[in-house]
Amino acid sequence: MSHLPFGRNLWNPLSVRRFLPLFAAVVVGCATASGDETNQKLDIYFIDVEGGAATLLVTAAGESILIDSGYPDHGGRDLNRIVRVAKEVAGRKQIDKAIVSHWHLDHYGNHAALVSRIPVKQFFDRGIPDVFPEDKGFDERIALYRAATQNKSIPLAPGNELELAQGEAKSATPRLTAKVLTGSGQTVANVGPANPFAAEHFAKPEDTSDNAKSLSVLFTLGDFAFLTCGDLTWNTEHKLMSPNNPVGQVDLFMVTHHGLNVSNNPVLVRAIEPVVTVTCNGPTKGGAKEVLETLAKIPSLKAQFQLHRNIQLPDGVQPPVQRIANSSDTADCQGRYIKASVEPDGKKFTIEVEGQDPETFDVMKK
Ligand SMILES: [Zn+2]
Repeated sequence: MSHLPFGRNLWNPLSVRRFLPLFAAVVVGCATASGDETNQKLDIYFIDVEGGAATLLVTAAGESILIDSGYPDHGGRDLNRIVRVAKEVAGRKQIDKAIVSHWHLDHYGNHAALVSRIPVKQFFDRGIPDVFPEDKGFDERIALYRAATQNKSIPLAPGNELELAQGEAKSATPRLTAKVLTGSGQTVANVGPANPFAAEHFAKPEDTSDNAKSLSVLFTLGDFAFLTCGDLTWNTEHKLMSPNNPVGQVDLFMVTHHGLNVSNNPVLVRAIEPVVTVTCNGPTKGGAKEVLETLAKIPSLKAQFQLHRNIQLPDGVQPPVQRIANSSDTADCQGRYIKASVEPDGKKFTIEVEGQDPETFDVMKK
């Protein structure tokens, strides 16, 4: 599998404005867009996998990138939902890049099974551990993953940049970028302007689970920025964001770790000034009150969306009902997705709960 180690400096005009660190990155993965027709926008589908994660990006160039794949089992529930969105909703004939944020079941539950339903061109992960005591079934599961990837999955590390297909070159159309910010507990260099929220950090107990090793990826299209951090936890968020902010401002933020309060350190979520958040929670997992309140107080925030109503919280604490995709418990859930759609110039984006009218938001000028 192509793993192109030609040195490339992230200090290009786009990343200068985002304060990304000065060091050589590895550009990984050849751009192999399937060439299926697209609407020329960057579409991001947050697929409901009942408290796991599965996020499908379809770029203007027709490239499809799936980050995480929900839970296994449940009669193929999450697998079917991913395949429905990829094929029927987004019109994809293949997944070009399938990324595993970390080795927990709610994130790579269907990577192996996917290949029997839709071709997957390339796999990326944080590197496969030799042993993984957290999951007694890991050996069996990882064997299936290795088989599906034909032992060619590409390990990602902080500073790597994914090579993406860019479509037709139009001078006014900004370039889409995807940069890895964290992975295996490491972070990009802490360069950039001082983070005014750094002093708000207080340490939480060390997280020895794989959550702390999650891959975080920052996508940018002109001024637009989308950040997804898997299940990254509190102290690693601090490590990334203190004392300086190497990320910059983020318009669309996938709330980390299903919106649990062992993640979403204010040092990170306040510093990135999100305009819109989407929480990939389940009826009884994530969407925590403390996180909702931390986000609601951020001056830049225009709207919070959730895949599920948290059935354990009063409605008044949660986003309004039209911004919650699924209100019932898992047994009756219809699995509606939330879709973001970014204009080709990266200046506006819409958020649509499946079956409802989209809402439009302005991207913040960087
Ligand atoms: Zn998770």
